[in-house]
Amino acid sequence: MQVLRNARVATMDGHAAGVPLVEGASIALDGDRIAWVGPTADLPAAFEKAAVRDLEGRLVTPGLIDCHTHIVYGGDRAREFEMRLEGASYEEIARAGGGILSSVRHTRGASEDELLAQALPRVDALLREGVTTLEIKSGYGLDVDSELKMLRVARRIGESRQVRVVTTWLAAHALPPEFRTDRAGYIERVVLAGMDRGHAEGLIDAVDGFCEGIAFSVDEMARVFDRAKALGLPVKLHAEQLSDLHGAAMAAEHGARSADHLEYLGPDGVAAMAKNGTVAVLLPGAFYTLRETKLPPVQALRDAGVPIALATDSNPGTSPLTSLLLTMNMGATLFRLTPAECLRGVTRHAARALGLSDRGVIEPGARADLAIWDVQHPAELSYRIGFNPLHARIFGGQYA
Ligand SMILES: [Zn+2]
Repeated sequence: MQVLRNARVATMDGHAAGVPLVEGASIALDGDRIAWVGPTADLPAAFEKAAVRDLEGRLVTPGLIDCHTHIVYGGDRAREFEMRLEGASYEEIARAGGGILSSVRHTRGASEDELLAQALPRVDALLREGVTTLEIKSGYGLDVDSELKMLRVARRIGESRQVRVVTTWLAAHALPPEFRTDRAGYIERVVLAGMDRGHAEGLIDAVDGFCEGIAFSVDEMARVFDRAKALGLPVKLHAEQLSDLHGAAMAAEHGARSADHLEYLGPDGVAAMAKNGTVAVLLPGAFYTLRETKLPPVQALRDAGVPIALATDSNPGTSPLTSLLLTMNMGATLFRLTPAECLRGVTRHAARALGLSDRGVIEPGARADLAIWDVQHPAELSYRIGFNPLHARIFGGQYA
């Protein structure tokens, strides 16, 4: 039992528009759970003998949650980035072996140990900013063994670091060259067969897909979701990033936890998401990198009461981003989210996007995953650019 005293606590509970703040607060931790939170004057006598730590007036938020990443992959795409800035066309980059297939080649060619060693520095960058829960997708293997290898690496990240890792099966990310003329074969023999195997091995927490003209159709994804449902796995979807295929509506009707990207989301998608409780995960890092100009329909999502989350989309091609604080700043500056929405987007709503009801808020019974900040006001977390005010991170009740 321990008590964190003299804190300003952003509990993130309730439905207030701003950030719910408790001044002069204490938080009592019992093992890996929060036992009590409130004004120190009201601290129950039961906690009076607990070890006390004085937080000297610092802000405490729930540990941050990055609910959409592709942080495990082989190689990088810096040369491709350079070629593009030197004027190379998409075709020239593809001919030089660039694009997503370059990440696939390097991911297939790397051992589990190599993938882990490459991913950990990126993961550590997130943890240094207070992240305590991290979603990691497969999707650069595109064959059963390589996709499962990625998820094993994701699990090992959760064992190597003080962070909860949630894994996602994303074999329906791109069509590999060997299946270029056999889409149905890829879905059957890799996406579905691999899902069965990964599920049997306990490697899959959720199922995702890239629904887009350059990737998989709504019908193809519906087929993948039907199998996920048969296995009892929750689903989510990369939808409406480059065009409006109405994928978000299909996903919502399948009970998806989230639909992600959503720049081209239309009113039908917003309505379906609101009706089914699907979280909108916005990914400003990809919007920024692609120099997209079409904004996601933030006001329509707000008006419909769709919860909005923010994530890094950390990936080698369209969002080589490993800062959730910068993501919050981008959410505010590029998408006009309020600082309170940005903070809710990386705590409470991000937890909901992952189906985790025991975190993202500071309340009795929730996991004792906390971030302690050297700031006065929660808005500072999304206001600054390239500044990390994290004082300490608590994971499962322990300073980590
Ligand atoms: Zn993504």
